Amino acid sequence: MTEHNIPPVVAVIGAGFSGVMTALHLLRHAEAVKVVLVERRSPIGLGAAYATDDPAHRLNVRAGNMSAWPDQPDDFVAWLKDQDLDIGSGGFATRGDYGRYLQGMLSSFAGSPEAAGRLMITPDEITAIAPDGDGWTLTCAMGRTISADAVVLALGNPPPRAPEAVGPDLEASNLYVADPWRWSVDTAPEGEGPILLLGSGLTMIDAALSLDRLAPGRPLIALSRRGLVPREHQGAPPSPTPAAPPSSLSPLAALAWLRATAEHHGWRTAIDAVRPATQNLWRGWSLKRRAAFLRHARAFWDVHRHRLSPVVAERLARMRADGGLRVLAGKLDRVDLLEGGRIGVIWRPRGETATWRLEVDMLVNCTGPSADIERSTEPLIAALVGAGLIRADPLRLGLDIDTDHRALRADGRTHETLFAVGPITRGALWEINAVPDIRVQAAQAAASVLTALARRCG
Ligand SMILES: Cc1cc2nc3c(=O)[nH]c(=O)nc-3n(C[C@H](O)[C@H](O)[C@H](O)COP(=O)(O)OP(=O)(O)OC[C@H]3O[C@@H](n4cnc5c(N)ncnc54)[C@H](O)[C@@H]3O)c2cc1C
Repeated sequence: MTEHNIPPVVAVIGAGFSGVMTALHLLRHAEAVKVVLVERRSPIGLGAAYATDDPAHRLNVRAGNMSAWPDQPDDFVAWLKDQDLDIGSGGFATRGDYGRYLQGMLSSFAGSPEAAGRLMITPDEITAIAPDGDGWTLTCAMGRTISADAVVLALGNPPPRAPEAVGPDLEASNLYVADPWRWSVDTAPEGEGPILLLGSGLTMIDAALSLDRLAPGRPLIALSRRGLVPREHQGAPPSPTPAAPPSSLSPLAALAWLRATAEHHGWRTAIDAVRPATQNLWRGWSLKRRAAFLRHARAFWDVHRHRLSPVVAERLARMRADGGLRVLAGKLDRVDLLEGGRIGVIWRPRGETATWRLEVDMLVNCTGPSADIERSTEPLIAALVGAGLIRADPLRLGLDIDTDHRALRADGRTHETLFAVGPITRGALWEINAVPDIRVQAAQAAASVLTALARRCG
């Protein structure tokens, strides 16, 4: 309680996995706190990853490791069983089902007597946040304001940045998809011409699977610098997993450890064994070492670490074997909007000087999140950066936080009551993209918020 016995208000911005779980931890651990959970997307409680009903969109983590609660590891598998879904802990559920699990938790808490007057779900977009006395004033897109004693930024991944080769006319046309996580494939132009997917990671695979379902056999071309595609999980969970490496290893020593472990146990088991140590390894590396890892190993790490479920991998392999999906390694040189509603693409194969030309019907930007918040076009992020309330981490992977998940201002000082969770905190933790990592961070961040509020009330 505050000094006037009014419960403090925590505003959580974003109701994807990070925001929902931070809100639920706050409400679970403190009776005397109110949470305002603000989300601009509808339906609320799914975020970018789980707002899909495409059955081809599978989780890329086994069900047994997808519990939302760090202290109840079987929770998701038990939920699947309750729903009569025949997926054991080693299987891969659909992302749509995971969304229903997450939303179910939120709505059952919201409907419970203990939530009465404590959880306010607010459909809106926050466009600005300003310090106000001991707390904060949040401005919504519709103009109204919300007062809060503490704020948690759970904004998810910012959408990809438009490649330089994409000019303003194409960017403004409906032949260019700027944000593949908020795009419905049904809006793809009719016809049989190829569609270019820029990028070759998990987002490209999502788009390719959905386009293949909509128009089987339509040629799809994926283009990325290295042409690397995520590898697949094996049928059975790796067992036994060797002990994690010491977190004092340098990037080179960690690579040597991986190679040696892979020789005995296979690369999948070696990667899985590193996972519990990844955040500590990252924290222990100097900026120079982190930058070297990003430069030399990131692309390879990503495709081995973020793997496809076997059913998705099999379908992708079939599409590639049939020629329906071609993956090219190279660089986009120029893109022109042509008369007649097509797109001319000039690209240069990796390692070559000559360029090639393609004509496609549509371009989908699957290059991944735009990490540099100082160039963000998201209204809230731009406003926070402009006001010096947040700053980019030194490697421009997201926003800078301290070990209590508090945002750092432009001058390097922390805010007592402004926090951030989820993939946007990648600069501090590196491995903070998937549920097994975020669920721990959400619990820790909620504890930090409650500590800060208690300290303030003295
Ligand atoms: C396509 C895809 C598939 C994935 N698959 C898996 C998987 O299988 N397993 C796994 O563990 N992880 C997966 N992930 C990783 C995923 O990022 C995390 O699991 C988790 O969902 C991240 O949740 P989040 O809440 O941080 O971000 P998001 O889900 O992006 O949620 C952030 C929310 O904040 C809202 N928001 C942002 N700004 C504002 C604002 N100013 N005002 C109001 N609302 C705002 C957005 O609308 C969004 O709903 C996947 C990610 C993607 C993109």
